[in-house]
Amino acid sequence: SLDSGTVWTQGAEGVDVPGYDRSGITTGIVHFGVGGFHRAHLAMYVDALLTAGQARDWGICGVGVLDGDRRMQKVLGEQDGLYTLVRKEADGSLAPRVIGSLVEYLFAPDDPEKVIEKIADPATRIVSLTITEGGYAIDQVTGEFDPEDPGIRADLAPGATPSTVFGLVVEALARRRERGTGPLTIMSCDNMQGNGDTARRVFTGFAALRDGDLGAWVADTVTFPNSMVDRITPATADTDREALAERFSLRDGWPVVCEPFTQWVLEDHFAAGRPPFEEAGVQVVDDVVPYELMKLRLLNATHQALGYLGYLAGFRYVHEVAQDPTFARFLRDYMDLEATPTLRPVPGIDLGEYKATLIERFANPGVADTLKRINFGSSDRISLFLLPVVRQQLADGGPIDRAAAVVAGWARYAEGTDEQHEAIEQQDRLAEQLTELALRQREEPLAFLGATSVFGNLASDERFAAAYTRALETLHRDGARALVTSLVDG
Ligand code: NAD
Repeated sequence: SLDSGTVWTQGAEGVDVPGYDRSGITTGIVHFGVGGFHRAHLAMYVDALLTAGQARDWGICGVGVLDGDRRMQKVLGEQDGLYTLVRKEADGSLAPRVIGSLVEYLFAPDDPEKVIEKIADPATRIVSLTITEGGYAIDQVTGEFDPEDPGIRADLAPGATPSTVFGLVVEALARRRERGTGPLTIMSCDNMQGNGDTARRVFTGFAALRDGDLGAWVADTVTFPNSMVDRITPATADTDREALAERFSLRDGWPVVCEPFTQWVLEDHFAAGRPPFEEAGVQVVDDVVPYELMKLRLLNATHQALGYLGYLAGFRYVHEVAQDPTFARFLRDYMDLEATPTLRPVPGIDLGEYKATLIERFANPGVADTLKRINFGSSDRISLFLLPVVRQQLADGGPIDRAAAVVAGWARYAEGTDEQHEAIEQQDRLAEQLTELALRQREEPLAFLGATSVFGNLASDERFAAAYTRALETLHRDGARALVTSLVDG
């Protein structure tokens, strides 16, 4: 059973367990958004340091702020914070490891005060975040802090009990300042270019609205390192739980599955110290921008290039699209001709090899990543991954046909039915508005681009509008596979 503890702590054939004593590890990191990715990435790196006998004062306290996180609190509570990270190899084999670095978990809605005091505690020196790209209260077009965000407004009301990440952390920072505890580091591990800069804008913007002096103190003393994070971590499926139980006798309420590849490139900008991450394989660099651009524009934007068009063509998994020769060629052409010219030289990386590896990573059938997950929250993500490439290519007079086809693919996907007339579930903050626009586009081809909170004024660029309209017409007339084929041949 779950708490029998033997497999968890002593291991079984083929299962790695923490070989270190977990008692006495103290919390140095408070992490918001304990989902799949955090448990496959930062928590794994800290676990690796603990295994090497390091970082015993850098244990992680997870925090959930959304209702959906109650389940994580329950599962981790039952498992003493332990969970299994399952590496899925391309040959279908599984490599499970029990991770021991999550030493506490707090569910903020039950006890916000406890979360605030945990962050205010002098032992806490890093607050880390994986709260999704949509979690930052920023305007998607300008990238600036949006003080009108409903959660932000509620947390700024006089006498409010904080309920957002920003309200909780800034209250804790106010206490640290009052008590002379000193600043800490806020480390975003979300997929955004300049994730640290974005976090800085939101936290300092929020603090300044609360109290000008506090805002200045946060801006001057708290640090916000930028980072590039990479490890494909699909949502856990029931079959993953079953496979662990059957093959390894491990009954884990919420294991995490991930690909073998992992990368983390991090700026060394820490206000109150950090674990020796480089000893666990993290690349600590002065300038993370070239790595971020490479990852977001090659991996994430290419996920978008395969997500909508692949779904419309009848695929449901990433590996199915990447294994299709026509699609694979389209993806590689997108990377080579449209994305790569917008990158900067990336120290130590052979881009040709990186792109070939990406196609291989996408094609790994073991990972079984769904197109549905890739297409989730598009309105928060397209402006971060694909549209910056489009804007730069438009400014440079470079090619945009493939990216325009991808945006048209999203517009067609947003109509809510696929090419077999089956319903497509829309998982997007703006789903209602976007579907309404998409349903007008057979008469009014540029209707979807009218979502200016996502696209800004892209519709008024004639070259983009023409390529987009052509692609949408082909989609309506001949379907997604025909569109992709025409772009590969052309
Ligand atoms: P997930 O759905 O498993 O977990 C998301 C977590 O964020 C949950 O705990 C959720 O409650 C929390 N969250 C969501 N919105 C929030 C908000 N507004 N405020 C506070 N918490 C909020 O997703 P995941 O796979 O862990 O991915 C999370 C993020 O990690 C992604 O959005 C991305 O930025 C980054 N990331 C993911 C991957 C991946 O392959 N999954 C790879 C690289 C980076």
